[in-house]
Amino acid sequence: MSNSIYDTYETVIGLEIHVQLATASKAFCADDASFGGDPNTHVSTISLGHPGTLPRLNKKQVEFAIKLGLALGSEISLYNAFDRKNYFYADLPKGYQITQDRKPICIGGSLEIEVGDTKKTVRIHHIHMEEDAGKSMHDQDAPHSLIDLNRAGVPLLEIVSEPDLRSAEEVDAYMSAMRRLVRYLDISDGNMEQGSMRCDCNVSVRKNGATALGERCEIKNLNSMRYARRAIQYEFKRQVDLLESGGKVAQQTLNFDPASGITSPLRDKEDAHDYRYFPEPDLPPIVLTKDYITAIEANMPPLPWALLRQFIEEKALPLYDAKLLTEEKETALYFLALCAHYPDSKAISNLVINKILPYCNEMSLTIYEFPLSGERMAAFLQLIDSGKVSNTIAYQRLFPAMLQEQDKTPMQLAQALNLLQTDDADFLTTLVEQVLAEFPDKVEAYRKGKKGLIGFFMGEVMKRSKGKAAPQTTNELLRKQLEG
Ligand code: ADP
Ligand code: MG
Repeated sequence: MSNSIYDTYETVIGLEIHVQLATASKAFCADDASFGGDPNTHVSTISLGHPGTLPRLNKKQVEFAIKLGLALGSEISLYNAFDRKNYFYADLPKGYQITQDRKPICIGGSLEIEVGDTKKTVRIHHIHMEEDAGKSMHDQDAPHSLIDLNRAGVPLLEIVSEPDLRSAEEVDAYMSAMRRLVRYLDISDGNMEQGSMRCDCNVSVRKNGATALGERCEIKNLNSMRYARRAIQYEFKRQVDLLESGGKVAQQTLNFDPASGITSPLRDKEDAHDYRYFPEPDLPPIVLTKDYITAIEANMPPLPWALLRQFIEEKALPLYDAKLLTEEKETALYFLALCAHYPDSKAISNLVINKILPYCNEMSLTIYEFPLSGERMAAFLQLIDSGKVSNTIAYQRLFPAMLQEQDKTPMQLAQALNLLQTDDADFLTTLVEQVLAEFPDKVEAYRKGKKGLIGFFMGEVMKRSKGKAAPQTTNELLRKQLEG
């Protein structure tokens, strides 16, 4: 089939993202909800679903759901009921999952994404609270399956989007934006490798320009962006091929196998009635007050898009800097804290992006653990700005020295290491004369009008001074010798 056939179709994607919440305890009992631990150690009779045990709702789960809903502009439901979703699975000891089928906590809302230079708003259908199942491992002890129930009952939010995404790139941007948001809100670590964020991709195709949606397939449990991308691309081709050869797409639940790169049916798509949903009799509905929601709203952390706008409009940073600095909330707040010590926000941005972040990455430190204080960083930038140390020398030599000897001020170190710029006329004149004597042809070219060569001569003098020649004085001396 020629490429042009594929070009006549578009992909339509809706995502169901499962976010594991960073609560201390599980959704309905006091068991440790943290990732890892020896298998089956974070389990009590409630996680194990023993008869006669009763769930109790974790208040944090509700608070976290509301935070996310408020950030996305959702309507928050005051009346919240829970339901049982019944199905049998070996890692689901209760035989049902507690979820919100009839009345999700957040309804509507949207998230803005950006692909290349194009912005797009992805509508959220709803967000509901539920609990995770345990983990089955089929490849550790073949032919047996191993089961770890530490994850059983860990609180989840399921974020269901409208079918607004049109490509793997948009899915990537949407997942990244959602990951950034949950991290800003401190409700999840958003770690895809550890499964704190997983998505089911609903994919359909339709002819360009068509308004009706095509029949969709749901690819389950993609836990990396790379897999999601490959699965979507594979599924697009498969569905187009099927339609072009006169077939029909059957609504199915698919599994994606990263090794072979193909999707295969897990089961025919079940309908809601297959799950025998019914109201959870052990949990009363929770009724929220407006005051409770207002109190959460009053304590919302800054949101990534608000900081991005602030950095561009108030701090006059280029978009590139602003985006990098707002990728993580800690970096953004650290940058703002440095701004309180020094007025040149672009100089601070350069320092954070080029020096502080790479250092912290290398040493596996959070940015708050960066050892030098805001005052020290301000003194460092001041030395550059006053022309006492050149930018290059400061970045290459002074900065590492400051980390080595943290009790010394930048000025003390610059003196000790002989890094201060000099405008000592005798010293500089000697260097200028040396350089001009060495490149007579360039001197001639300059005198004939190639004035741009001044940069070359400056560079040569700078090199010989080991970066210490004060640029202003050097420039004046050079011009005097060349033109005088
Ligand atoms: P279910 O409850 O069976 O999973 P929903 O109607 O709630 O079905 O949809 C689940 C997800 O599938 C949503 O994210 C929605 O945007 C997406 N979706 C629904 N129809 C389509 C379609 N035709 N193509 C792509 N995605 C779809
Ligand atoms: Mg679904």
